[in-house]
Amino acid sequence: MFGYEEEPRLSNLTMRATLMYQAGDVRIENVPDAGIIEPADAVIRVTRACICGSDLWPYHDLEWSENGRRMGHEAIGIVEDVGGDVRTVKKGDFVVMPFAFSDGTCEFCDEGLQTACIHGGFFGSTDVAGAQAEAVRIPLADGTLYVLPTRDVNGLLPSLLTLSDVMGTGHHAAVVAKVGPGKKVAVVGDGAVGLCAVIAAKRMGAEQIIIMGRHHDRIALAKELGATDAVTERGEEGVERVKTLTGGHGVHSVLECVGNEQAMATAVEIARPGGAIGRVGVPHYPGIQPDTTFYNNVTVGGGPAPVRAYIDELLPDVLEGAIQPGRVFDRVIGLDEVPDGYRAMDQREAIKVMVKP
Ligand SMILES: [Zn+2]
Repeated sequence: MFGYEEEPRLSNLTMRATLMYQAGDVRIENVPDAGIIEPADAVIRVTRACICGSDLWPYHDLEWSENGRRMGHEAIGIVEDVGGDVRTVKKGDFVVMPFAFSDGTCEFCDEGLQTACIHGGFFGSTDVAGAQAEAVRIPLADGTLYVLPTRDVNGLLPSLLTLSDVMGTGHHAAVVAKVGPGKKVAVVGDGAVGLCAVIAAKRMGAEQIIIMGRHHDRIALAKELGATDAVTERGEEGVERVKTLTGGHGVHSVLECVGNEQAMATAVEIARPGGAIGRVGVPHYPGIQPDTTFYNNVTVGGGPAPVRAYIDELLPDVLEGAIQPGRVFDRVIGLDEVPDGYRAMDQREAIKVMVKP
């Protein structure tokens, strides 16, 4: 039984939300309106949400459940209500909702790793409802929500929305892979996170940025965003191409933004000795090749990005237009079209779909 099924019904109001009942079965339904449950909660009215590449994993393999799963973990919105213990977030605030909720006070939050928060968790999980909806309940609102300094940001909504996941995730890959001035970088994957990883690598001063992907439209966008080279070959051929482009030794930094076995195997092979791999693709494979990383002194790191920690650093660049991660959105739909949005992303018709409830 999912937590939100047990949430008390606070009013007779309903809202529309996205439910996935099993692989390929996404529906928009009327559900009880989001409301305060715990005193640390807030409720936000969703201004923009979106569909994530990671939503496609359950779209492929979710097992049937009677209650379905409430989908969505990325949103910006307006705070509509706050619980009695909420101190810093106020009604009317314009906020970014990071994909993980966190208390902001535990030892991991203090260290900037909010995705390991002792009291935290993930939106759109079995415990907390998702953001592909008209409204969403935010646990631990003071620690979770990032209050934006202004509501006057019309053209910037798409880029602000990426701070809830994909831009922070691409940045995390770059941080973990130790991108810096003069470094040679490869980004494995040309999805929205990969494209944001290109933006992050450029922003952090990389000298060479190789995008690895197979979609010509996405590669063209990657080049506009800062990629210097593209490798469309996969497997051994792709590895050889990267080595040729880097003087034979591979790259200092690999940003692995896919999460399947071949992508990780490629990442291991193209990292130069002493290099580092930042993994942010949710892994759907048993393990990595330890021998190569050991003998090449390659650092392997990464995991769920603490995007909450990165907003302070990334937001000024978004507000100034220095980075435009919102360019990863190539389709805008209403809530009723969300099932088709999943289909379009799954069939690679769309890079990333924005939802305007
Ligand atoms: Zn915490």
